Amino acid sequence: MKAIRVHEFGGPEVLRLEEVPTPQPGAGQVLVRMHAIGVNPVETYIRAGTYALKPTLPYTPGNDGAGVVEQIGDSVTEFKAGDRVYTAGSISGTYAEFALCKAAQVHPLPANVSFAQGSAMGTPYATAYRGLFQRADAKPGETVLVHGASGGVGTAAVQLARARGLRVFGTAGSDEGRKLAREQGAHEVFDHRAPDHFIQIMKATGDRGVDVIVELLANVNLGKDLIILAKGGRVAIIGSRGRVEINPRDAMQRDVDLRGMVMPNTSPEDLASIHAALVAGLENGTLRPVVGKEFPLAEAAQAHRAVMEPGAVGKIVLVPYK
Ligand code: NAP
Repeated sequence: MKAIRVHEFGGPEVLRLEEVPTPQPGAGQVLVRMHAIGVNPVETYIRAGTYALKPTLPYTPGNDGAGVVEQIGDSVTEFKAGDRVYTAGSISGTYAEFALCKAAQVHPLPANVSFAQGSAMGTPYATAYRGLFQRADAKPGETVLVHGASGGVGTAAVQLARARGLRVFGTAGSDEGRKLAREQGAHEVFDHRAPDHFIQIMKATGDRGVDVIVELLANVNLGKDLIILAKGGRVAIIGSRGRVEINPRDAMQRDVDLRGMVMPNTSPEDLASIHAALVAGLENGTLRPVVGKEFPLAEAAQAHRAVMEPGAVGKIVLVPYK
């Protein structure tokens, strides 16, 4: 099969398309023929060798994808060949024509959802769900600010929060991104490049503040997030690309909780609960992943450049058979 292989950490050019043996599923494993592969920012950090987790070289990147079950190993009862599925994690890497997964990493993809949409579930939707409901304890009737509502995690957070009955504010850095956030269910949208957007958000809450912030760029925003939270407010810190200065008194005055998270810390029980909720949301139509740009698998390097550019409009996807 064809797969993207990384032989040395470095820039996007280290992503090379190669011929490798197709893996065979062992007991409890599922081989999935990939029709679409989700590209996430974390895969660029891992490729660059700057992330805490460093895979053994050479490796095939990727956690997310969607396709059809090709073959199952012994003792797999949940799936059969031909089932439409999405993956949330994989043993062999998803930037390939086939991905070998543990059965628990595979979830059913309802017929009304495209493969490209399914490739957005594993990391972005699971992260948004965990941030909102398992870490920040967002409740119906509360106000949430999705700080970075135009990308993979942000559009997911807007849809999930809106479906749960929260009042949803979203930010984006472009007109197109703000339009997208509104279309996904944000009641109000703001420009995170405008220095006064924190003041505008406070005004929109009648100076009460927001209950929850889903923060996708904490190194830029966290200090100011603290002054737009209501008493008892919570920040789910999901994305950060550097250091930031905060005034602890801003947190003290409001009894604020800062709740960091990374998906690998999620327990198997919490993961199972997340994906049960996500599959139900796909089935009932409240979750509609937004696909932005699609690239052929061979152009993985371009997809890695694109996912780090400003002006996000949904999910970046690789397609093996284009
Ligand atoms: P993405 O699709 O590339 O989207 C990036 C988002 O960040 C866009 O909405 C972008 O908006 C926004 N952004 C840019 N400048 C911002 C600012 N000043 N304030 C707020 N938002 C800003 O990436 P993603 O997949 O959604 O991931 C977002 C971040 O979360 C990444 O850093 C990623 O590594 C991290 N993440 C963490 C976990 C975890 O387990 N903790 C899991 C998944 C993702 P514009 O382009 O419109 O400016």
